[in-house]
Amino acid sequence: MNNNEKKTGASPDEKNKSLNFLETIIEEDIKNGKHSGKVHTRFPPEPNGYLHIGHAKSICLNFGLAKKYNGQCNLRFDDTNPSKEEEEYVDSIMEDIKWLGFDWEDRLFYASDYFDQLFEWAVKLVKDGKAYVDDQPSELISEQKGVPTRPGTESPFRSRSMEENLGLFERMKKGEFPNGTRVLRAKIDMNSPNMHMRDPVIYRIMHTGHHRTGNKWCIYPMYDFTHGQSDYLEGITHSICTLEFVVHRPLYDWFLDNLIDTEYRPRQYEFARLNLSYTVMSKRKLLELVNEKYVNGWDDPRMPTVSGLRRRGYTPESIRNFADRIGIAKRENVIDVGLLEFSVREHLNKIAPRIFAVLNPLKVIITNYPEGQVEDLDLEINPEDPNIGSRIVPFSKEVYIEQNDFMEDPPRKFFRLGPGREVRLKGAYIIKCEDYKKDENGNITELYCTYDPETKSGSGTQRKVKGTLHWVSAEHAVDAEVRIYDRLFSNEFPDKVEDDSKDFKSNLNQDSLKVITGKIEPSVKEAKVLDKFQFQRLGYYCVDPDSTENKLVFNRTVPLRDSWAKQNK
Ligand code: ATP
Ligand code: MG
Repeated sequence: MNNNEKKTGASPDEKNKSLNFLETIIEEDIKNGKHSGKVHTRFPPEPNGYLHIGHAKSICLNFGLAKKYNGQCNLRFDDTNPSKEEEEYVDSIMEDIKWLGFDWEDRLFYASDYFDQLFEWAVKLVKDGKAYVDDQPSELISEQKGVPTRPGTESPFRSRSMEENLGLFERMKKGEFPNGTRVLRAKIDMNSPNMHMRDPVIYRIMHTGHHRTGNKWCIYPMYDFTHGQSDYLEGITHSICTLEFVVHRPLYDWFLDNLIDTEYRPRQYEFARLNLSYTVMSKRKLLELVNEKYVNGWDDPRMPTVSGLRRRGYTPESIRNFADRIGIAKRENVIDVGLLEFSVREHLNKIAPRIFAVLNPLKVIITNYPEGQVEDLDLEINPEDPNIGSRIVPFSKEVYIEQNDFMEDPPRKFFRLGPGREVRLKGAYIIKCEDYKKDENGNITELYCTYDPETKSGSGTQRKVKGTLHWVSAEHAVDAEVRIYDRLFSNEFPDKVEDDSKDFKSNLNQDSLKVITGKIEPSVKEAKVLDKFQFQRLGYYCVDPDSTENKLVFNRTVPLRDSWAKQNK
């Protein structure tokens, strides 16, 4: 799990360009003229939740391979389970893929587009004596499947005649039977060591409307009976999925072998799904967090969803770089979430304008600065991008600095303010702390400083002081709500729990959101939703969509440095 130590050093462009195992396979296929050298992949989300960073990994992989090898990548909604699927999810998935920077062009498909063809294929299996209707309840069917080390028990309905099966399957389709009373099963091998080959269910009865086919169907194909055939119908060459499907592959091939007589076959390849420390990734669990209001929706900035990351201030580039950096593996592993944070910090450092924001304000009165005078200082926007120009920051007699930039009795190495000490206010003057005021609880409430007019930044002769602080002119400051996020889970592996009475939610971090009011320099008034900034010396922050004309709301994307790494490692 030291991936980030090994990998953070190199940026994606400079890292060694050795091929990953899928690229090796594809290049070999191209060399051998397989599929006439064509590469066609697909991304097949089930519209039963919002996309998360694991899906983003799969999107980058599938669309990325297609791009690299001049191929194509389809978007296909795997919408075979009407009870959990919704239009809202379809829309959000499309929005997220586009935002990540990928384009399926005119190749948007739905597995439900193939329901007629799939039904015909099921009829073919029945007619070929390779599928039968089972009248047993699902519990009994699973019981008879048994365990991998012992042969299963054949269903008493396994030897039904082809005619009887055909009649029953037609009647299932017509809606004559209630949910759960019958299923269609492929007749494969009840003794197979692979449980998926023990006469898998391929159609079930569900009297549920479908988001696209409405009430046309009351029987629906299972995932395994849908996926490979959909790949076939779309001309997919490399069907890439995660490792849990390795054991499904013989079944994927069995259906194609028994239904298709052309030579062309799509082929399934598996890679290790992305797991992140301090993160849960399963859609079921994310849905639970949303429904039970542990978070404020799928796009809560603490969620590992693409929409949550977007709202948090992540950029598409940072997510793509992350996906590239972690590469693809054939074995299960957990990536340090710090690597994702590193990727966004790296990109925002290049593009985010710098501004001053004081989040825990302490008022400083500059006693010798002329009352009513305002100086418009010209400060850089981004030292990483000198062409971007400068911004105007007003300076006046009263400014705010951070409370923790002053200590009443500072140690020698504290290079910020203390009684009698000097610091530079960045881009302005050197000030000296002459006096301070405390309230009845001993909290420092005001500092009284003098400034040295000879020390204006950029004015030639420069006296040096060790500390430089950010600041905001009190009279010009814009108040903003600032939402400071911490990790949603306090346990590195949220799924690990002490005992069975607890679940992953017992590992939620109780302090994952803190809301404060900050003082921000006035140039921020122009900011628009999702604009990103570096609050100097603090971190990266992004304008939240909750902002209104009268109130700016910021989300902290990441602090400037990985403070967590220091504390916990
Ligand atoms: P979850 O297990 O989170 O509920 P899922 O696999 O059921 O996700 P799908 O909508 O079926 O979600 O996934 C669409 C595609 O994204 C599939 O090809 C799947 O393999 C891939 N995918 C899902 N989760 C990850 C992950 N963590 N890492 C990489 N790819 C993933
Ligand atoms: Mg799935």
